Amino acid sequence: QQTKTADKNALLEKDRAHMWHHMSPYNPNPMIVTEAQGSWVTDIDGNKYLDGMSGLWCVNIGYGRQELADAAYEQLKEMAYFPLTQSHVPAIKLSEKVSEWLGEEYRVFFSNSGSEANEVAFKIARQFHHQNGEPGRYKFISRHRAYHGNTMGALAATGQSIRKQKYEPLAPGFLHVSPPYCYRCPFGKSYGNCNLECAQVYDEVINWEGANSVAAVIMEPTITGGGVIVPPPEYMPKVREICDKYGVLLIVDEVICGFGRSGQKFGHQNFGIKPDIVTMAKGITSAYLPLSATAVRAEIADKFNEQGVNLHFRHVNTFGGNPAACALALKNLELLEEEQLIERAASLGEELREKLSFLEDHPHVGDIRSFGFLMGIEMVEDRQTKEPAAPDKLAKVIGACKQRGLIIGRNGDTIPGFNNVLTLSPPFTTTSEDIDFIAQVLREAFAELA
Ligand code: PMP
Repeated sequence: QQTKTADKNALLEKDRAHMWHHMSPYNPNPMIVTEAQGSWVTDIDGNKYLDGMSGLWCVNIGYGRQELADAAYEQLKEMAYFPLTQSHVPAIKLSEKVSEWLGEEYRVFFSNSGSEANEVAFKIARQFHHQNGEPGRYKFISRHRAYHGNTMGALAATGQSIRKQKYEPLAPGFLHVSPPYCYRCPFGKSYGNCNLECAQVYDEVINWEGANSVAAVIMEPTITGGGVIVPPPEYMPKVREICDKYGVLLIVDEVICGFGRSGQKFGHQNFGIKPDIVTMAKGITSAYLPLSATAVRAEIADKFNEQGVNLHFRHVNTFGGNPAACALALKNLELLEEEQLIERAASLGEELREKLSFLEDHPHVGDIRSFGFLMGIEMVEDRQTKEPAAPDKLAKVIGACKQRGLIIGRNGDTIPGFNNVLTLSPPFTTTSEDIDFIAQVLREAFAELA
């Protein structure tokens, strides 16, 4: 143990000297995770934690799958790299599988991250309109609270002011509308007594902006990082209808909701709609290797072939569709299917919801929302006024969970004062006993607030 402590201190010293952590250069006390198996991770001190967030909502299949490591290793030995201006077998097989999962013919462009997949979607959408004889369509509509990535376009699409300030100007041409947030309806209505104003607003914005200036709408099936905002069932079909009415493309960001998280292969499949473009990352490899994809409906992709070389999509990505990452992703999808892990995610989601139902009566819980095996617990100061809970209340719950061996998340920054949603998104390897553990830990953590 002494050696381990010495190792740890030396590592932390180097970490402070050389690392720039995500979000902040200095994390005074980072976890150094050294092992991970199933839903559990172990830190350098030997402490075990149930990873209730699957990393950053991404290790869907669970940690430590030998088959995934083998798939990458075998591919690396056979053929480590070739650019996708040409082709290779793992990318061909994976693109076929992704189309099969989408249930329709799509063409798949590979990159390395969710942000890049969205940038590709934006460029394809704009260029499609050029090729379709409507070059004036350049605007994108996304939603307040949404997160779509960290690059200048994807960040412009993001609807969270805290993440954007200080980095502006971002890419121009991005508009935002209010989300379908029934708990705090931006239109002052209540679900069941409304005209789905949250969907209708697209009609209005597209009209006022001028339909001939709008390229696409981008949305997640459920806003995840912005507070787990699950839309009513009629919302996505209505938005699809409005997009069709105006010739606006619908881009669906499945970076978190895809690959089983929602209880279906893709989140939008819960709503019975067909997107024009689907972006995906994280769960495609269960985060074992970096890979992302932008799947484009065949009719749209075919527009890029009609008129010859001048209309090429001028976008190259050196690492995108790396053979080892593609081979690993294909194995990941095969295992999710063979082991019926998506069905499992759906039933785990129900079980989690049920076992956490005791929280519904807690004075600091305003709303509990879930979408498949993904949950948000919105904390408030007062259930009547719905005043968002003070940051220290969330910190207290998160700290109490961590002490007891459970990692949970907190909804990323949205606007000041609204960082008040606890999040859960465990791996699909999670067991009923693990869910009992989550419930027990949350029961104790919330009891400490009283
Ligand atoms: N879209 C969504 C919905 C996301 O949650 C994220 C990342 N959390 C991204 C895009 C960006 O993905 P990446 O971090 O891989 O660039």
